[in-house]
Amino acid sequence: MSQTHEGQCFCGAVHFSVTGEPAAMGYCHCESCRTWSAGPVNAFTLWNPDAVKITRGADKIGTFAKTPASERKWCKDCGGHLFTNHPPFGLIDVYAAVIPTFPFKPGVHVHYQETRLPIHDGLPKMKDLPQEMGGSGTSIPE
Ligand SMILES: [Zn+2]
Ligand SMILES: [Zn+2]
Repeated sequence: MSQTHEGQCFCGAVHFSVTGEPAAMGYCHCESCRTWSAGPVNAFTLWNPDAVKITRGADKIGTFAKTPASERKWCKDCGGHLFTNHPPFGLIDVYAAVIPTFPFKPGVHVHYQETRLPIHDGLPKMKDLPQEMGGSGTSIPE
């Protein structure tokens, strides 16, 4: 039943897979995502850690944690970004861009109060985060 999708870093030294369905999918507009990704938004898919497997190059994975809430992972050979472990949430954000065959279906925008790229797609826009993730749970207009 549960499908597996393969992902890899920019150079291919690190391979990994995700299996099943993510807990949530959407776009994050926060400053951390923007400055880490060097892009205007981060398309995220949040997975239970059991669903994410490193299949090659685990020794090539670097980690940087600016805050204890986000352990950002990348390939030490190419610098390509892989995913972010969020220990407080018990979830791993696998960037949608690095799992190309996975059918990304965004459901929400988070940290929209910080947006640099307003997106008028009709999806809910959370001011920060849902309450269950420690946010205000407040929605704001597009
Ligand atoms: Zn690489
Ligand atoms: Zn973010």
